[in-house]
Amino acid sequence: MSDRLPRPLYVKVNPSDNVAIIVNEGGLPAGAQFESGLVLTEAVPEAHKVALIDIPQGSPVIRYGVTIGCAERPIAKGSWVHEELITHPLAPDLDNLPLATTVPPAQPPLEGFTFQGYLNEDGSVGTKNILGITTTVQCVAATVDFAVKRIKAELLPSYPNVDDVIAITHNYGCGIAIGAPGAEIPIRTLRNLSLNPNLGGAPLVVSLGCEKLQPGQLLPVSTLPILSREPYLVRLQDEQHRSFGDMVAAIMEMAEKRLAQLNARKRTTRPASDLVVGLQCGGSDAFSGVTANPAVGYAADLLVRAGATVMFSEVTEVRDAIDLLTARAADPTVARDLIREMAWYDDYLGRGSVDRSANPSPGNKRGGLANIVEKAMGSIAKAGTSPITAVYGPGEQVKTKGLIFAATPASDFICGTLQLAAAMNMHVFTTGRGTPYGLAMVPVIKVASRTSLAQRWSDLIDIDAGTIASGHETIEEVGKKIFDMILEVASGNKQTWADHWGLHNEFALFNPSPVT
Ligand code: CA
Repeated sequence: MSDRLPRPLYVKVNPSDNVAIIVNEGGLPAGAQFESGLVLTEAVPEAHKVALIDIPQGSPVIRYGVTIGCAERPIAKGSWVHEELITHPLAPDLDNLPLATTVPPAQPPLEGFTFQGYLNEDGSVGTKNILGITTTVQCVAATVDFAVKRIKAELLPSYPNVDDVIAITHNYGCGIAIGAPGAEIPIRTLRNLSLNPNLGGAPLVVSLGCEKLQPGQLLPVSTLPILSREPYLVRLQDEQHRSFGDMVAAIMEMAEKRLAQLNARKRTTRPASDLVVGLQCGGSDAFSGVTANPAVGYAADLLVRAGATVMFSEVTEVRDAIDLLTARAADPTVARDLIREMAWYDDYLGRGSVDRSANPSPGNKRGGLANIVEKAMGSIAKAGTSPITAVYGPGEQVKTKGLIFAATPASDFICGTLQLAAAMNMHVFTTGRGTPYGLAMVPVIKVASRTSLAQRWSDLIDIDAGTIASGHETIEEVGKKIFDMILEVASGNKQTWADHWGLHNEFALFNPSPVT
């Protein structure tokens, strides 16, 4: 080997795999020889698959120890196994799934891990101290945005313990079939977003007046006793507002009362069990499932052992591995809840005349992911090895500890928004292709699946898991690093790159119901 060229390397995940992933940056040329003796018969891009043996036409292509498809034509040992060479297998049948048949044994509890957080009246704990302003309808969004700009410029500097002011704006609220099946999803999402632990537990609401989604339906006072104690609502059409200036003044007056309350709060030492960590991936590549996602999975196991809530989501990305998840459910009821969410989503996609094959993006494919089966196997590695203790529908508030499945679409913004509604107070996001994604409401720790991305985007990526593929670090070492960083960031001692730059994507509601 020349000294100038790095040693050709591939990663094989499972002993039964007949394909492996090229690790070298920029890929490898024909003729490259690996330590095992394998020689490439053609150039293979970084993160793409090489055939480790001759795979006859119609035979299974195996990665992660599972069939990700079958060979469309004979694939020679040492050649590039790209997506056109692999057939698309059927998703597992929902009628014959194993129910809680291989429940993992509980791992020993982890004691003594804490963070500094803001305890709320309802028992939830914030990792930030943010003033949130809820809106019932898009009509008021521009006015609230206008007011928020002034609140940030004129009021916020006087309240230094408050981290930010956020308008929860959206395109829902009117022109909608509010009683239609599925409408409960956007409505409860907006309600539970307003109750996110990082907003201090007492929402402020701006309403227009004539909209379909009325404040009382969005946030029933009966379920939120705190609302009956304080002024929390500005209705723009109320007669007392005689000008736009009056409306803005009313919003600012309500906001200032709340800023004073939030400013008096202090961080206190909280057990790690108060964390609600949402896991997501976006812009995945073939490395995601061998580096970033397993490292996050290791961190997820540590969090579960420390008593925290860890949620994973993205229905279309777990659908093809559902048989592994139902087997891992803590009991048959949880397994059936998983199946219920998969069936609902199959039906939802079916109504739109698409199926899950619509999921992998062109970037995923350029990143070496042949299809949704391969993507799913990599995706569920994020969930670690704990039993799945509960399942929640889209936008429901999570109240359970341990590893839970919160059903969401895979879209980064919709998944992020739904996980915020589920009461997430920390977010871990893995990426292979790279995305500058961030959320205003909670810190987002971004983990790169490969070192080339982590280096190129050194001011966007928080943790490089590519060191696992190059052999510089183990899954456990990177996983512990992620766990430690979660506690540091949750305590406000360390800032993520997304927060450093203020990269905060907009809320995106999931509305499966008709628009009128
Ligand atoms: Ca995603």
